[in-house]
Amino acid sequence: IEQTAYQNDKLAMLGKISAAIAHEIRNPLTAIRGFIQLLRPHLLQLGKDEYARIILMEIDRANDIIHEFLNSSKPSAPQKTVVSVPSLLKDTLLLSESEALMKGCEMRLQQINESLLVSIDVKQIKQVILNIIKNAMEAIEEVQGDHAGMIEIGAKQEGNYVNISVKDNGNGMDKTLLTRLFDPFFTTKEKGTGLGLSVSYKIIKNHGGTILVDSMKGEGTVFMISLPLTHQV
Ligand code: ADP
Ligand code: MG
Repeated sequence: IEQTAYQNDKLAMLGKISAAIAHEIRNPLTAIRGFIQLLRPHLLQLGKDEYARIILMEIDRANDIIHEFLNSSKPSAPQKTVVSVPSLLKDTLLLSESEALMKGCEMRLQQINESLLVSIDVKQIKQVILNIIKNAMEAIEEVQGDHAGMIEIGAKQEGNYVNISVKDNGNGMDKTLLTRLFDPFFTTKEKGTGLGLSVSYKIIKNHGGTILVDSMKGEGTVFMISLPLTHQV
């Protein structure tokens, strides 16, 4: 037990140091970004606008990584409020509707019992569902040819828990991929950070829930988030 406590201390310390470093790296990145933008007209004159574009894109990517990392390492305890599951899902879907439309992806929300209540940090759980929907859209984009993308979202009670499911007909995953997708920084995407799911996993665990995946290469994927139900309003 002592060994574990020591390890946890070390991990917490490491988390704090990394968060501090990540935070400090942001400032120089902001400065670099600003100056590249000032140089951009000159680079354009030299016919080197492509360089500016790449620099800006890569700075933004670095910023995204830091942003997601800071979100994940923040020790912030969930700020819980009681919400109904259908309204939570409706609100979350609204946030990804325009992107889905742009990508020609249909999103369907199943009929959900209004009396299903959860006590959650709404911002954090929305973030988790958005991460999963974003992955679903990206998995659909990976499928070649004329493909009618479809994302189905539902929620069902199971004992004292609610199971929220997000199902896509994207490219799916094989077994090796399935064992690694929650690892921090694991990504198969050129522009991925590999942080979305590891952050999501932490958030769900902090809420006393679980997150499971079922997938078939070439068929699609289902993510299942299980959260404890609450009664008090
Ligand atoms: P990122 O999206 O930045 O790659 P994530 O942590 O969100 O990082 O996801 C990790 C990896 O899991 C992805 O790169 C992808 O290979 C795989 N993955 C996640 N969701 C899906 C999905 N719905 N369909 C297929 N693969 C997925
Ligand atoms: Mg992702």
